[in-house]
Order: sequence, then C-alpha cells, then structure tokens
Amino acid sequence: MNSDLERKVLDAVPTGLLIGGEWRQAASGATTKVEDPSTGEVLAEVADAAPEDGMAALTAAHEAQAAWAATAPRERSDVLRRAYQAMLAQQEDLALLMTLEMGKPLAESRGEVAYAAEFLRWFSEEAVRIDGGFATAPAGGSRFLVMKQPVGPCLFITPWNFPLAMGARKIGPALAAGCTVVIKPAPQTPLSMLALGRILLDAGVPAGVLNILNATDAQGVMEPIIRDGRARKLSFTGSTGVGKILLEQCAEKVLRTSLELGGNASFLVFDDADLDKAVEGAMLAKMRNMGEACTAANRFYVHRSVADAFAGKLAERMGALKVGRGTEDGVQVGPLVDAKGLGKVVDLVGDAVSHGARITVGGEKADGPGYFYPPTVLVDVPQNSRLNHEEVFGPVAPISVFDTEDEALAAANATEFGLVNYVFTENLNRALRVAEKLESGMVGLNTGLVSNPAAPFGGIKESGLGREGGTVGIEEFLEIKYVAIGGLG
Ligand code: NAP
Repeated sequence: MNSDLERKVLDAVPTGLLIGGEWRQAASGATTKVEDPSTGEVLAEVADAAPEDGMAALTAAHEAQAAWAATAPRERSDVLRRAYQAMLAQQEDLALLMTLEMGKPLAESRGEVAYAAEFLRWFSEEAVRIDGGFATAPAGGSRFLVMKQPVGPCLFITPWNFPLAMGARKIGPALAAGCTVVIKPAPQTPLSMLALGRILLDAGVPAGVLNILNATDAQGVMEPIIRDGRARKLSFTGSTGVGKILLEQCAEKVLRTSLELGGNASFLVFDDADLDKAVEGAMLAKMRNMGEACTAANRFYVHRSVADAFAGKLAERMGALKVGRGTEDGVQVGPLVDAKGLGKVVDLVGDAVSHGARITVGGEKADGPGYFYPPTVLVDVPQNSRLNHEEVFGPVAPISVFDTEDEALAAANATEFGLVNYVFTENLNRALRVAEKLESGMVGLNTGLVSNPAAPFGGIKESGLGREGGTVGIEEFLEIKYVAIGGLG
C-alpha cells in the first residue's frame, strides 16, 4: 500500500454481497482476495458468493420487481440523477479505487467514472420518455393500443476491463425501465461495482432492486439463476466463448438476451488520409485502457504508399509513453490485468515474429512485479498470424499493408467478429462506401473513439446481440404489449 489515501479509499468500500438491501457475508463465509495488478499486493477481501447466495439475490430481485415497476418514471429518474451527481462528487475516490484494482492510469479512471456516470444521467432522462402507440386498424373497426412494460428481473455479468462503465451501462437503463437487477462483476474488479452499489442505495434505490454478487464460481452461481425462470433477461459483456455458453443457458426459459462480446477491430489508413489525424486516432483506438478494450484497434491495415510514414510516427508515439503504476504522476500505460492476460500478449507477439513480423518498438516484457508489457509496434505482420485473428487485449499494434480498397475491405471483414472498425480517409465518397461495406455494428470514421452513452453501442456477427446506450438502449429492457380494442364500430 502506497499511501494513507489509498487505504482510506479501500476501507470505505463495502466488502459484502448486496442482497435485499443489506450487505451480507456469503452463506458459506467464503471470501476472495482482490489484487493490485501493478504490485501483486492484496488490496481487499470481499465476500465470495455460493449458489445459495445467488438464489437469495434472485428472490430479492423477484420480490422487489412489482413495486419498482409501479414507481413513477420521474421517481426512477430522480434516483438515477442523484446517483449520477454522487458519482461525479466522488470522482477522485472512485478513480483511485478503479486504478488500484484494475491498473489503468488515474486520468483514464477519471474518464471512466465520468463516462459511467453519464449512463445514469442519460437513462434518468430516458426514464420519463417511455412511450407507446395508438392506431386505427387499416380496415377500420378495431384499434391498436401499444404499451411498453419492464421486462422483469434482469441478470447482469460484467468484465474487469471497464469495472464501472460496463455495469452502469446496464444498470442505468434497467432501473429507468422499471426492472430489478442482480449483477455479478468480474472477480478481478469487484470493488468499483460495490462502491457503485453503495452510491445507488444512498441515492434511493429500494431494497432488492439492485443486488450484487461477487463470485469466483461464476458458472456455479449464475447458471441456476439463469435457468430458474424468474429472471426474464440476461445482459452479458465479456468474451464470445462465454457469451455462447450463456446464450444456450438462456434458451431453456427463453430469456431476453443482450450480448456485448469480443471484437477484432481493424484500423484502415488509406493513401488519402491525414496521417497525423490517423496516428492520433490510432493512439486512442489502440492505447485506451492499455489496449484492453473490446473496441481496441487490433489490426492495422495501411496503404502501401503511406505505410512506412504511418508506422514510423506510430512507433515514435508508442515508444514515448510512460509505463508504470497507474497512481503515479505522468504514467500513461498501466499493467495488464493479470498473468493470463500478459501471457496471451507474449504468446501472440511471439507467434507473429515466428511468422516473419518485425518489432519496431517494445516487444520485451519487463522484469519485476506487476503485469507490465511495453507499447509495441510490429510491421510486416502476415495475415496468417494469430494477431490478425485473436483479440490481443494489450498495447500491441500489428501493421500490414494493402494496395487496393477491395483488399483492405476483404482483410477487415475476414473475421467472425463485427464490433467496430476504424477508417481514416479524407475522401467523402470512399468514407461512406467503406463504412457501408464494413461488417460491424460501429465504424469510427476519422476518429479512434466511438463510445458515447448517447449512441447505440454494439456488434454484429459473433460480437453480440442488442445495443447499449442511445435512445434504443432502454428498449432492451422493455416488452411491447399490444392490446386489440374492439367494439368501437
Ligand atoms: P470473460 O472471461 O468472458 O468474463 C466476463 C465475465 O463473465 C466475468 O465476470 C466472468 O467471471 C464471467 N463468466 C465467465 N464464465 C462464465 C460462466 N460460465 N457463467 C457465468 N459467468 C461467467 O471475459 P473477460 O476476459 O473478463 O473480458 C474480456 C472480454 O470482454 C473480451 O473478449 C472483450 O472484447 C469483451 N468485452 C466486450 C465489450 C463489448 O461491449 N462488446 C466490452 C468490454 C469487454 P470469471 O472471470 O469469474 O469467469
């Protein structure tokens, strides 16, 4: 532990399970340790749920559902608005907590706190705009009344890479729509979610409406409550492999599902791109969150005529980044989240080099404690390298060249993923043509950042189902009921 401030922030976080409005120990008494990925030091011990805790959380959410659905939209809106304000008021503490458990630099954690809070504000505004419809049947006579109602209790499972935002992006619309929630954060980063739980309770979320299960036995705790049938929706953010398992489990009781899964974003730089803009975009798309983002640019395809210039500028910027513990001044790149994450980066870079890729900067894992890997650029990366097919989830930019637009598009679309792609060109016709042909739910056009609470975030192909954020975000938590009205002549 480096400072009194760190201890104070950690000591303020509840460490229990949140079930039925109370912070409880696990029924088994089990706890699990939360580690600082930059030192390996234990930061805290939190309750570790067993399957019976999962059932208790589901029962609490189920019992609270009818009353929460019946609250006035304005009341739900006000609760979310108060939580938004509290998050901003506590931005510094929440950011430090996130950096401690996840590793990202403090500046990025502050950004994530604001981003996560914005989901609560956005959906506090959407809570009062849930509408329906009324129409006359084409043949006259009957009328159609269309109403929207909350889906019911929801189950959420979130990853460690954005410990607050991935939860807020689900909790905001669910509460706004009138749904109750059971959420399981990732075991590496439960503290941010526990802190958010406390904020939401203080903001007026009633007992049972939000339940939090820290659990190291994810499947053992979640599968029974997915298959139980009282929850009516599952929303998951994480890897495609786990998403498929959950989709199968949801089939048993036909739960509504939203899946935000893996990505394999391409980053296309055409010969008519503004290279400085492209490098700026590349730094954002690649290095945000140390590359541990589903939206991270995973494969760079650059037109042959500008490839050397682009690669040179990118290597210079990447090589100048300061790596270290995220709490330290000036640090721009923190550690990766754990030994498994680091091992994958080392493996994928080794594989690319064995296929003929050349490292121009980085590429050597640092010695010492913590899961640090330096910002790395590789050129001449062959298409058959694993780096071009698997998410590296680290600060590694593999660059390949292309000659024609068709070749660039074919390479970009040669993946089972379809979350986001990035395009840099100053030619409007090409920009729109390429954006239309890219097989992804999102496209970053001359920008390296697409995430925005007011925009519909999500993927196609094996990157997922449904959208989070934007005006469509709340629809994922609403059922449509149609009432046929007869007898009107
Ligand atoms: P992960 O291994 O799929 O884990 C995600 C969450 O699922 C964790 O809480 C995990 O808990 C839980 N989990 C794993 N197996 C489970 C099971 N059988 N039943 C219930 N829960 C289970 O993913 P990750 O490595 O933590 O996160 C990185 C992945 O998330 C990447 O693929 C990334 O692209 C994706 N992601 C997507 C988006 C998006 O919006 N599309 C955003 C962020 C991240 P345990 O760790 O205990 O298994």
